[in-house]
Amino acid sequence: MIFEQLVKESPLAIYTCDASGRVTFFNAAAATLWGREPDLLKDYWCGSWKIFYPDGRPMELDSCPMALTLKNGKPFNGEEIVIQQPNGVLRSLLVYPSPVFDEKKILLGAYNTLVDITDKKSNDEKHEILSAIVESSDDAILSKGLDGIIKSWNAGAQKIFGYTEEEVLGKHITILIPPALISEEEVIISNIKAGKKIDHFHTVRLHKDGHEIEISLTVSPIKDAFGNITGASKVARDISELKKAERLAYQFAKRQTLLNSIGITISEKLDVKEILQKVTDATTEITGAAFGAFFYNTFDETGESFMLFTLSGAPREVFEKFGMPRNTAIFHSTFSGEGIVRLDDVTKDPRYGKNAPHYGMPAGHLAVVSYLAVPVISSSGDVIGGLFFGHPEAGIFKAEHEEILASVASQAAVALDNSKLFEEVMALSEKKDEFIALASHELKTPLTSLKGYLQMLQKEKGSKTSEFFVEKSLKQLDRLGSLVGDLLDVSKVEAGQLQFNFDFFDLHKTIEDILETFRYNTTSHIISFTGVEEQLMVYGDQQRIEQVIINLFNNAIKYSPHAQQVFVSLEVNKDQAIVIVKDNGIGLSKQQQKGIFKRFFRAEGVAHIAGLGLGLYISKEIIDRHQGSFIVKSEVGVGSEFGFTIPLKTNDIQTILTM
Ligand code: ADP
Repeated sequence: MIFEQLVKESPLAIYTCDASGRVTFFNAAAATLWGREPDLLKDYWCGSWKIFYPDGRPMELDSCPMALTLKNGKPFNGEEIVIQQPNGVLRSLLVYPSPVFDEKKILLGAYNTLVDITDKKSNDEKHEILSAIVESSDDAILSKGLDGIIKSWNAGAQKIFGYTEEEVLGKHITILIPPALISEEEVIISNIKAGKKIDHFHTVRLHKDGHEIEISLTVSPIKDAFGNITGASKVARDISELKKAERLAYQFAKRQTLLNSIGITISEKLDVKEILQKVTDATTEITGAAFGAFFYNTFDETGESFMLFTLSGAPREVFEKFGMPRNTAIFHSTFSGEGIVRLDDVTKDPRYGKNAPHYGMPAGHLAVVSYLAVPVISSSGDVIGGLFFGHPEAGIFKAEHEEILASVASQAAVALDNSKLFEEVMALSEKKDEFIALASHELKTPLTSLKGYLQMLQKEKGSKTSEFFVEKSLKQLDRLGSLVGDLLDVSKVEAGQLQFNFDFFDLHKTIEDILETFRYNTTSHIISFTGVEEQLMVYGDQQRIEQVIINLFNNAIKYSPHAQQVFVSLEVNKDQAIVIVKDNGIGLSKQQQKGIFKRFFRAEGVAHIAGLGLGLYISKEIIDRHQGSFIVKSEVGVGSEFGFTIPLKTNDIQTILTM
């Protein structure tokens, strides 16, 4: 009874049939495989199955294990077949048909046990596919125990690290890690023990032959059936090529930036030294040279040395040992403008080492093996000089460097030509300044005498006409005196020799005094004074501050020909006195305001008004030297406010005293 139940409920399909193959018994699992319950003694064992060999070829019913057992009376011990069920599903089965005989050995029928191995097969297949993927992957895929011992190793790992599977299995993972990075392994293992995955970690590992490989590493914990972490799987991708491409891209971007910076310096600067230093620095960096230098094509008295001008990457002393690069065969071709010379190994060049006294590089000089020299030729065809680069290793400079340097050298040549012109202009302008300084100084003496004589004449009683002309002459003489004074001041400012005598003085009183003179001499405008009404002590050069205020008054009057009033105010803000002179005159545009502190600046349309364009230039210098600031507000056709601030005596006098 128990056996019957066992057979009926067994998960294995079991059935029996008679000698003709008709089903005589079946259990539930067999019915499931057939897709329905067969009619006993009517339906055949093969139901409506289609049967195949495991490789997929169709199998004749006569050739099936069960048919053969019924035919030959021989059992099968686990033959694999594939059946297609009525619903179309394929199942892999191991079949065990066995014949049943009576006492006379007459075949009565057979029984069969069918083991469904479909799921196991698909797992095996999956496993096979996965193994094939692992084996064919270009990435290194390996596993190790928590003790770091390597347990598996694919073909990709062999390709990347150079070891065969036999060589590494059982070895410690540290054979792949550069000594300096050994501590990484501890971090990786502690992460793995904590069940954490490490994703795309960029690091370096060692090839069997010792060279370093840049890799991207992903490490995941391996768990056993109970969920315990037993080791780690590692996928390492060789990213050396990627990194190389990244570095190339970076180098390219850096080179572009350097070339841009050369371009900017060349177009903006007119200083030869600055241009050449920038060009030498940037080209040394671009070419990867150990040092670079620019030599002028000028000879010394002995007629055989060139002049070192700028140097990059090496201290000047190392060149001093060498003296100047002499007129050697190798240098000669650059200075005669024959073109770029690029040598992978200068010491192997037939021209090298032929010249006394050094015969090659002098002892103590920088070792030069790679050599690159580019002539810098001006528009007139003269060789201005040459850029020279050196490196102690061979083969550093490449053809691409020649192209870049040729273009930089021609840009530099244009810039040098321009700066030469600029220097000539500057030299001329310096001469002009010298002349102004000298002339104004020389004019001052006769002016002073002339004024003295006229003042003496003024005291004498003369005719009305002569008194009138003496007074006019004195006024004109004052104007001439102040123009000459301005010219003299300008040359002093330029030479940094404008003298100041600092002391305490009352700014309120100073303005009052100036106003008095102006009110006496000016009939066109009324000057009103507002703000502080008492003594206001400031620390500065009283005469120079007077000069600034007079200039502002004069301008306010001069540049407001149709107005009748000029306003002056004196205010105090914190520790500063503020003087503002306001007019309702012609005003200045924003653009014009930018130029007013420049020497000889005059706005358009004021040519009919007397002036040299020096007053504000000198005033600004005076206020700057007092640590004050200039105030300008102006609008065309509305008027202007010109003013300045000056520190009160309470301010930090010390800073002014030490100026
Ligand atoms: P100058 O008055 O001798 O020309 P300044 O240096 O004092 O020289 O002034 C420079 C220029 O600034 C003047 O030529 C004039 O164009 C402009 N400027 C100065 N002050 C005023 C003002 N108050 N209103 C309009 N323009 C002015």
